[in-house]
Amino acid sequence: MSELHLDAGDCVIALDVGGTGMKGALLDRDMRRRGTLRRPTPRSAGPDAVVDEIATTLWTLAGQAAVKGLTVRGAGVVVPGVVDEDRALARYSANLGWRELPLANVLEERIGLRVSLGHDVRAGGIAECSLGAARGARDVLFVAIGTGIAAALMSDGPPIRAGGYAGELGHIVVDPDGAPCTCGSRGCLETVASAAAVATAYTARSGRIVQGAAEVATLTAQGDAEARMVWDRAVDALAAALATATTLFAPELIVLGGGLAEAGDLLLEPLRARLAQRLTFQRHPLVVRAELGDEAGCLGAGLHAWHTANSANMPMWNEPTEDTPL
Ligand SMILES: [Zn+2]
Repeated sequence: MSELHLDAGDCVIALDVGGTGMKGALLDRDMRRRGTLRRPTPRSAGPDAVVDEIATTLWTLAGQAAVKGLTVRGAGVVVPGVVDEDRALARYSANLGWRELPLANVLEERIGLRVSLGHDVRAGGIAECSLGAARGARDVLFVAIGTGIAAALMSDGPPIRAGGYAGELGHIVVDPDGAPCTCGSRGCLETVASAAAVATAYTARSGRIVQGAAEVATLTAQGDAEARMVWDRAVDALAAALATATTLFAPELIVLGGGLAEAGDLLLEPLRARLAQRLTFQRHPLVVRAELGDEAGCLGAGLHAWHTANSANMPMWNEPTEDTPL
């Protein structure tokens, strides 16, 4: 960051904080990666240790930028749970253990950089809309199916935030008599169709331990009858939840991301068919796979940071110039 290197260009620091790992990057104005850093999230050490590690990771990336002669224009940090972007508040995370944490302010005081706070799945949705599978679309449902299930709903452009509470697709009840959910309810979509639920259901049914949902997908493709039953139940539940979302919000595009979407057509084809069966008068959305993979959240964090750096004259949703970095 010395004056000697001012011509080398600007960047932002982007960080996606997950329950198990953090993905960091330096992103230039064209959203090209100029550096990356991955670290485990010290979740078991408690929320203070996680905040310390976030600050250390941002600091390390700032150091990378200095070495490369890049000027850091700000940082974007996205986290899971309930996130109020407008108040820069990490309201709640069951995974990371914090409540009502003014995370952006805490980090700004530690590292001396402007920090924009975002929600990991909404940031992923923004990234898919700007750089990935939903480029050019305005009514988009982005669904991340991993350990849990969450969604970002872009309606007429920007994502619906509702104080950070919007998009909890995983907690739509699909089976009122179903298994207890971590949220305190019962039979939520997440208890049937998350990657974790698929793996657990297969083991419960077959007695066989599997490494994860990817293995159940493989067994399903190979014709394993019990895997097929578990997979079908997950697809049916997803179709039911997506039909509800489609009826309410009429997305033109549903973009599926997260670990379960790695199954590709094994998930997409039956899901398209069963969603279509459930719809009558509604606008029928295209159902596609996400393009940005597990980088979506980090790229979304970068878009948040650039938006803040440019906020005086650049909207987050720049319709006429959708290919221009924010
Ligand atoms: Zn729930």
